[in-house]
Amino acid sequence: MKISEILKSKKLALSFEVFPPKTQMNYGSVLSAVKGIAQAKPDFISVTYGAGGGTSDYTVAIAREIKNSGITPLAHLSCICHGRRDVQLKLGELKSLGIENILALRGDIPNGFAGNMDYRYASQLVEDIKKYGGFCIGAACYPEGHPESDTLYSDIEHLKLKADAGCDFLTTQMFFDNGVFYSFLCKAQASGINIPVIAGIMPVTSRAQVKRISAMTGNVLPVRFRRIVDRFGENPAAMKQAGIAYATEQIIDLYANGISAVHVYSMNKPDVAQAIRANLSEIL
Ligand code: FAD
Repeated sequence: MKISEILKSKKLALSFEVFPPKTQMNYGSVLSAVKGIAQAKPDFISVTYGAGGGTSDYTVAIAREIKNSGITPLAHLSCICHGRRDVQLKLGELKSLGIENILALRGDIPNGFAGNMDYRYASQLVEDIKKYGGFCIGAACYPEGHPESDTLYSDIEHLKLKADAGCDFLTTQMFFDNGVFYSFLCKAQASGINIPVIAGIMPVTSRAQVKRISAMTGNVLPVRFRRIVDRFGENPAAMKQAGIAYATEQIIDLYANGISAVHVYSMNKPDVAQAIRANLSEIL
């Protein structure tokens, strides 16, 4: 099913994310994570894509496994390390497997990267997928601004170009302060971006994750969230419980304020996905 149809038909949608194995050796463990996450009955499961393209075959394989389990897959595809021909081949492969949803990304620029003749921005990939035809296309957006952008406003101008290139929906980078997301949504709408925006929520279950998130996204972490990490970061079980509770509160607040779709960065953790789902059992 196309995600655009899911977003139209569901009052409240919930999705989860997995990342593919780096090697064949880990394939089985990712597959069992997918099975566990599928038990949390998400509306779709997304599969990330290695920026260097190294895990790209596994992205498609895992997306196919998700589809075979009866759940809609969303395959990520990044273009910075690919040429147009590679992308056309990948689109053909996805189409032949009946995978209808693609999250079109540029990917992070690798260190020492020499440049790409075909792709500089995700909007160019969106255009190519649109021309190919038949796919529901999503793209990324950043409530706090993309780290390479000078201002949030210039990032939103670029986002408008990307949306107009043919996006059906957007998914946000993770955020920990819903106020930041609401404010971004107002700015995006004022810039004429009218496609559905899925709110991305990351349940933080360990102190180590916090450092990685800040380095990767440049996110500003609210004091209320930092207090939780300060207080429970040394106790893994307590940190996990508090992180899931914090994410659940964010999701309930989003739904209560009229946001109809939330994507949980569940990172191959079925226990986390199932706990979030259980916390929302009566709400969903
Ligand atoms: P773009 O939309 O191309 O934007 C990149 C930068 O270029 C921004 O600063 C933007 O403002 C600027 N820009 C865009 N167009 C123009 C223009 N015309 N002129 C000037 N500047 C412009 N990475 C992966 O490798 N694999 C994944 O699976 C993956 N999944 C993700 C899922 C989500 C929901 C999110 C939010 C991110 C994901 N990423 C993933 C990370 C993403 O690849 C990086 O954040 C990357 O740096 C930017 O990708 P993008 O698609 O947002 O790029």
